[in-house]
Amino acid sequence: VIELGKPEHSVITTCAYCGVGCSFKAEMKGNTVVRMVPYKDGKANEGHSCVKGRFAWGYATHKERITTPMIREKITDPWRIVSWEKAFEHAASEFKRIQTQYGRDSIGGITSSRCTNEETFLVQKLVRAGFGNNNVDTCARVCHSPTGYGLKTTLGTSAGTQDFASVSQADVIVVIGANPTDGHPVFASRMKRRLREEARLIVIDPRRIDLVKSPHVLADYHLQLLPGTNVALINALAHVVVTEGLVNEAYIRERCDPADFESWARFIAEDRHSPEAVERVTGVPAADMRAAARLYATGGNAAIYYGLGVTEHSQGSTMVMGMANLAMATGNLGRGGVGINPLRGQNNVQGSCDMGSFPHEFSGYRHVSDDATRHMFEALWNVPLRSDPGLRIPNMLDEAVEGRFKGLYIQGEDIAQSDPDTQHVTAGLESMECIVIQDIFLNETAKYAHVFLPGSSFLEKDGTFTNAERRINRVRKVMPPLAGMADWEVTIALSNALGYRMNYAHPSEIMDEISRLTPTFAGVSYEKLDLLGSIQWPCNEAAPLGTPTMHVDRFVRGKGKFMLTEFVPTEERTGPLFPLLLTTGRILTQYNVGAQTRRTENSRWHEEDVLEIHPFDAESRGIVAGDMVLLESRSGGITLRALISERMQPGVVYTTFHHAKTGANVVTTDYSDWATNCPEYKVTAVQVRRTNRL
Ligand code: SF4
Repeated sequence: VIELGKPEHSVITTCAYCGVGCSFKAEMKGNTVVRMVPYKDGKANEGHSCVKGRFAWGYATHKERITTPMIREKITDPWRIVSWEKAFEHAASEFKRIQTQYGRDSIGGITSSRCTNEETFLVQKLVRAGFGNNNVDTCARVCHSPTGYGLKTTLGTSAGTQDFASVSQADVIVVIGANPTDGHPVFASRMKRRLREEARLIVIDPRRIDLVKSPHVLADYHLQLLPGTNVALINALAHVVVTEGLVNEAYIRERCDPADFESWARFIAEDRHSPEAVERVTGVPAADMRAAARLYATGGNAAIYYGLGVTEHSQGSTMVMGMANLAMATGNLGRGGVGINPLRGQNNVQGSCDMGSFPHEFSGYRHVSDDATRHMFEALWNVPLRSDPGLRIPNMLDEAVEGRFKGLYIQGEDIAQSDPDTQHVTAGLESMECIVIQDIFLNETAKYAHVFLPGSSFLEKDGTFTNAERRINRVRKVMPPLAGMADWEVTIALSNALGYRMNYAHPSEIMDEISRLTPTFAGVSYEKLDLLGSIQWPCNEAAPLGTPTMHVDRFVRGKGKFMLTEFVPTEERTGPLFPLLLTTGRILTQYNVGAQTRRTENSRWHEEDVLEIHPFDAESRGIVAGDMVLLESRSGGITLRALISERMQPGVVYTTFHHAKTGANVVTTDYSDWATNCPEYKVTAVQVRRTNRL
């Protein structure tokens, strides 16, 4: 910590890293942050924080921040510093030229879960109203889009069902495809507190994560499945519940569609879904699956918490629906201590989805083809809107490679590093004629950009983030934007240069518009947020103070809907050339692609991504700890240092994706979730070899 002197004043704001959404007091001396202190009244963190939020905010004033707009004709040209006016004029004239030459659908926009609700709302408005198409998407596409699809289909709304406090009422905690200790540390502490008291624990993960065995916490069951077999396993648990008579019949009668339940129960009771039948597929002993299912169904309040190990699969949406089936069948929804709870990776994944950043939905998850909703937006925005869904990120890149998609506005997202199959992403980017990047650093994607608009960090703007428990927290400006404009002001100016007028004096006015147009936000305002500290949506006439627990008396869709969740193996297969399976994850001190944390003191604790490999696989390849190894897949290869680890099971290797120099996505595939196109980051067939033997 750099001691900068005694603070003179403080500002309450929200951490810009993970989906826990911790509240902090930024202690200031003039316009300089002296330190960040976790705020004791923050409802998501109750005065706690982790090493990221507490110490890793220094990137905001890092010397590599870009604070002047820049343009260039070709991506091989050097950047030219220009005025804001010139940059907006250049971007607008290029976008107009491209639309004239290639058609209205040849451009689009991508927004980010790192930005505020107000900023993402403006980006989707710019695309729908200013570009005249629905080609808008968010980086949630590549993380939690299956959560949106799966929970909306089964329960009626695309969000977690509980507040964080609910974990203190859980008797059985199930953690699936998540590593809260590293990914969501403050919530992990809350969960561990409950586990130390009396709650039982089931971990479903290919890797032996910290929760399986940590001080005073020992999982009752670790179902260490093979990557790509989630759906087979969740079906096996449901099979036990149905065939052993552990179903909560009264709950199903009252809350769910009986015809759906009957056909699902017949489907899931088939022998092919039994633990014994899928033992060989999942790699998990049938007895453990049976015992875990019995514990979930009969152990009292049972709560599921899950992460990207659920969603980032070719059957991500199916798995989310499989978890919903299990929770409905056992009556584990609609009260404290139960539910289905996505642990969102980024600070505002929930919010960016809520704000209508998907190509098929307006804010509040209403389809663009819904006439009544669209007419409401048209009346307020004073422009006709399209009723056909636009392009998702992978479709934009496919269209670009085919020469039909030529212009892209990207706010706060580094798709060249974060999206799968890097070679395909860069081919798409290289094919475009105008890429406008709005970011705080010259990221990997900026190598392909023609206009750079300096972004603002969370310390330089007002707005709101919505965390994983649907809690809308205020983000407050603690210092002026280094580049002179906050992100929301930049989007407004770009829209005005394009000829679609936007006029807001402050982000509170954008929130007022969001609440007018979005029923779940109808009761949200900055005044109320200041008064209450935070609000969990839905917040409206029926719930003026917000909603900690969803689906209490009825599901948002009415009756809960059981879905048939057929297990379909991934198309990514191991074979003689690629005999191992790679899966990926995070480490405590770093955050996503590391653009922020790598520019802080946190990098001292994690200087490189490493490859975790089981001793058996290492020995059979002559690999010892610290060797440099080549990790190769059908897509490409990267070099990493080997870490021999019994956290892994034989046949499965693991790495993180925090460093551009290793670039894990060079190896990942372009397979994706059947419903949402969320990439299958978690399953890649690979080979590992010592580089000095090549
Ligand atoms: Fe809280 Fe997450 Fe920020 Fe850590 S990174 S302080 S857990 S919001």
